Amino acid sequence: MLDSLGRNINYMRVSVTDKCNLRCVYCMPENGVEHVEHRDLLSYEEIIRLGSVFAGLGVSRMRLTGGEPLVRKNLEILVRGLKQDAGIKNVYITTNGLLLPEQLPGLVEAGLDGVNISIDAADAALFKKITRRDGFEKVIYAIGAAMSYPGLEVKLNCVPTAQNERQLVTMASRFVRNTNLTLRFIELMPVGLGKENVGKSEAEVRRLLEDAFGPMTPLDSYDSGGPCRYCSLPGFTGRIGFISPMTHKFCAECNRIRLTANGFLKTCLQYNKGVDLKPFLSKSDAEIEEMIANAVADKPDGHNFTNAEDLLSDKRIMSQIGG
Ligand code: SAM
Ligand code: SF4
Repeated sequence: MLDSLGRNINYMRVSVTDKCNLRCVYCMPENGVEHVEHRDLLSYEEIIRLGSVFAGLGVSRMRLTGGEPLVRKNLEILVRGLKQDAGIKNVYITTNGLLLPEQLPGLVEAGLDGVNISIDAADAALFKKITRRDGFEKVIYAIGAAMSYPGLEVKLNCVPTAQNERQLVTMASRFVRNTNLTLRFIELMPVGLGKENVGKSEAEVRRLLEDAFGPMTPLDSYDSGGPCRYCSLPGFTGRIGFISPMTHKFCAECNRIRLTANGFLKTCLQYNKGVDLKPFLSKSDAEIEEMIANAVADKPDGHNFTNAEDLLSDKRIMSQIGG
């Protein structure tokens, strides 16, 4: 499916819940968030049905996210349905990892292709400061559990900020020096609570890692089909990745759309642009396809995080969008 700029939209992030068992300071407030009512959530049947419409339009990869996707029960039913019934080629999950070990066997059996685990700290004290909950050891255990499945693609995501900058070197050493893992640094975006936190740029993270380990080498051949640029560090078997929406804007190559937990098709991370599909689920596939195509045709050219007015376009916080 092409948008009006000729960008090929083939990747979709589906938020299955806006609830979460952590409260990362840059993502979700401790209290006061109103959650989508259960009756307004898309059911798994509805997501699978929409999945088949999107697959027909050329979406081949889907990532289940949230909030925390694993707090929604029986997620393996959705993974299986998207792959087997909807015809989505690859299905992935982005998770904080807390509930992963017990759910992994069922998810892998259902056909899960990969998992991204978010971790922003190298020790339990900082983990608690950032997430406002305990759970560091559980996430470490989850990373090991995910790595034990040979066919599963496992990556780690970290948002570098003023809070964790002193642990980034330890994280790189601990997670990717002697493993086959990839640790990706995602620049903090001024979305929701991201506006109230101080992010660290790709250049700042590079400097820290290169001062500690030596010069990085770009891995141009290591292409994930997304915005991440990969590098190796001397003596490391794993990889470092950079996703840098603030300093290396990639909107011109954007291939993604998002579906919120209550069925809004969001065509750009920053703006409240798109179409609410939930009221139209009783329509035919052809009618829904037309609505999707119209919304995608109107996909914004790109974000503009420097314009104060644009920052107010969407009131959703990141846990409601799905990252
Ligand atoms: N709960 C899951 C997790 O944490 O992986 C999935 C949802 S979370 C919203 C997805 C990703 O978005 C996480 O890696 C998180 O660190 C990242 N994120 C949240 N707020 C962000 C922001 N303002 N800028 C950049 N990344 C953000
Ligand atoms: Fe929850 Fe993920 Fe947001 Fe942290 S980043 S509060 S784990 S949704």
